Amino acid sequence: MEVKDIKDSSLAQNPVIGQMLQYNHEQILFCNDNATGLKAIIAIHNTVLGPSLGGTRMWNYHNEMEALTDVLRLSRGMTYKSSVAGLNLGGGKAVIIGDSKKIKSEALLRRFGKFVNSLGGKYITAEDVAMSSRDMEIIKMETDYVSGLPVNMGGSGDPSPVTAYGVYVSMKASAKEAFGSDSLSGKKILVQGIGNVGMHLVEHLTKEGAKVYINDISEDRLKLVADAFKAEVVSADSMFDLDIDIYAPCALGATVNDDTLSKLKCKVICGAANNQLADEKKHGELVLAKGILYAPDFVVNAGGIINVYYELEGYNRERAMAHAEKIYDTTWNIFQTAKIQNIPTYAAANKIAEQRIESIARINSVL
Ligand code: NAD
Repeated sequence: MEVKDIKDSSLAQNPVIGQMLQYNHEQILFCNDNATGLKAIIAIHNTVLGPSLGGTRMWNYHNEMEALTDVLRLSRGMTYKSSVAGLNLGGGKAVIIGDSKKIKSEALLRRFGKFVNSLGGKYITAEDVAMSSRDMEIIKMETDYVSGLPVNMGGSGDPSPVTAYGVYVSMKASAKEAFGSDSLSGKKILVQGIGNVGMHLVEHLTKEGAKVYINDISEDRLKLVADAFKAEVVSADSMFDLDIDIYAPCALGATVNDDTLSKLKCKVICGAANNQLADEKKHGELVLAKGILYAPDFVVNAGGIINVYYELEGYNRERAMAHAEKIYDTTWNIFQTAKIQNIPTYAAANKIAEQRIESIARINSVL
């Protein structure tokens, strides 16, 4: 999809439609309700493949521009994630501006649900930062365009086992490309962040006989996972100096940066965290130059959106898991495309996502 080169001076004067033009967004809905204090932005990036789906994030942004830029960037990311995962979904996202601990209320969430409903299904919401499945239940009182509901409401529940399985199969495809075999037995793997996804991933890896190192800021999680799976705890100070085969970022974004890349000795980076490359272009090229195989994060962690997608069709975990298993082939294809075209893997993943959207747009225009 075309990215228009727009001058900063023009963006300063046209910050809304100017930014939409830059990345080709379809629609933005600005929402305000004085009575509940709701201030929200819903961004629909692309609906060629299907309704736009993406979570609602609640965050105390410093200003409107920060919120707008975030929602535009995140909604575009969802278009690429769903496209490359082979889902019939477009990309969208919503942000609610404000401190969730101070302003979140039933009335505010229901008012937000009415705004989601007003889009008639062009945007489907789900959980994201500072939003819980209970919040989704409340939004659901006002609209059916919600996914990621708890199991007791007919929803798909916690997506992290599906996400972790997707990371695991993606890591196997990465191992095949980097080491010639997809067996992870005996591989030394660092998992940073052993929360919901990281812990399930550690389980898969230890079952297969990998030597797993774990790091987390939570002492309780470290004890739990180290005891359950015989994983070795490593400190934040020393983890990037370890002699490892695979680094799996499963906590935060931007951990693949100038600092870590000057130390990392691994051959593969493959994990669940979003936006792992601090600077996509710079660090995407740097990993390639350093001979590290980077499995693009939005390909690897697509199990979450896959899980939510199957909820729209009447949830069935087997079908969601079977789809997540395809992340193996998707990852493999991206590596082959990157090699043939001599481009970084993140760029190959973007190309594959864009090609699918362009080809479906073409058939949609045929009578
Ligand atoms: P989580 O909140 O359950 O776990 C994150 C873990 O990282 C926690 O244990 C936390 O203590 C730890 N952590 C936080 N800061 C850290 C730091 N500086 N160093 C080390 N550890 C730190 O989250 P999750 O659901 O397991 O998701 C993990 C990552 O994967 C997130 O980046 C998330 O956006 C991404 N992701 C998750 C899903 C999903 O299905 N849950 C889907 C797609 C992407």
